[in-house]
Amino acid sequence: MNKPIASILLLACLCVVAFLIVDNRRVLMIHLIVLSGGESPALLAASEELASTRWHDDYFTIDEIAPATYAIGEPRYYQQNYSYLIVGKTKALLFDAGPGLRNIRKVAESLTDLPIIFLPSHFHYDHVGNGIEFDELAVIDLPYLRQRAQGNQLAFTDMEHLGAAEGFDTPQWQIDYWWRPGQLVELGGRTVQIIHTPGHSKESISILDAENQLVLSGDYLYPGMLYAFVPGSSMQDYASTADVLLAGVADLDYYGAHRVEPPGPPKLSRQDLLELKQALQKMRLGDLSSEGIWPAEFKVNDNITILADPGFLQDWQVD
Ligand SMILES: [Zn+2]
Repeated sequence: MNKPIASILLLACLCVVAFLIVDNRRVLMIHLIVLSGGESPALLAASEELASTRWHDDYFTIDEIAPATYAIGEPRYYQQNYSYLIVGKTKALLFDAGPGLRNIRKVAESLTDLPIIFLPSHFHYDHVGNGIEFDELAVIDLPYLRQRAQGNQLAFTDMEHLGAAEGFDTPQWQIDYWWRPGQLVELGGRTVQIIHTPGHSKESISILDAENQLVLSGDYLYPGMLYAFVPGSSMQDYASTADVLLAGVADLDYYGAHRVEPPGPPKLSRQDLLELKQALQKMRLGDLSSEGIWPAEFKVNDNITILADPGFLQDWQVD
């Protein structure tokens, strides 16, 4: 066998092996993180925020991003989480609850007297408010989650929650509402829509508030490093979701679940989403350069970088 052919065959074999171990590699990575960590890092110093931002206490911040729509920040947690409270006339909806280092329910209750339904953008530990008790819980109604639930008891898997990385137990919830992709949620005098936005994780959702021209985009889209390499992540889903979010003509604002630095809530534009879509198209074709080996960093623009598998391991479907 001549040398070039042998090299090509060797490379092909390596590719096949890498494909076969792809999920195990992600699981292995999480276990390595767990071994090296196990508790949340120390709190950051209090940050300089916008003049319009109000500190609820020495930990939480509150920004009213639209009428009766609040961004509740945890700028001292190293991941700088933002959760969102949408208040109607009969009910309020809390979208995400942070890691639960402090009780975000008390912040929400300081903003409304109405019953509060808690809905996580996805099941990662830094969004589900580990240990915080809510009167009513909602999750996205996906067939594989319904199938797994025992009645309305839903146990997360360790790889959906990833809480071992910071010492949080994997939760089991009593679900009050299963909301379908596309479902309109009526809060009394205002309606929001649930959009299934997989890519970062299978169960990731966003909320469309058409009246206020904004999308709460969870971990699918925020300024900074987007995680598209964790268990449940998918490049194919990431690209499909970009198409879904760009399908409307409206020029919406996108509020994400993390920010990189102060001040204010993490906000991106339709232009950022458009550039994300273009970058994903290039990644699919192998036309976007990256830095690092794994996860590889693919720069979208000055606001966003995608952390993903190197190109030959990405899960693009063949048309
Ligand atoms: Zn996440």
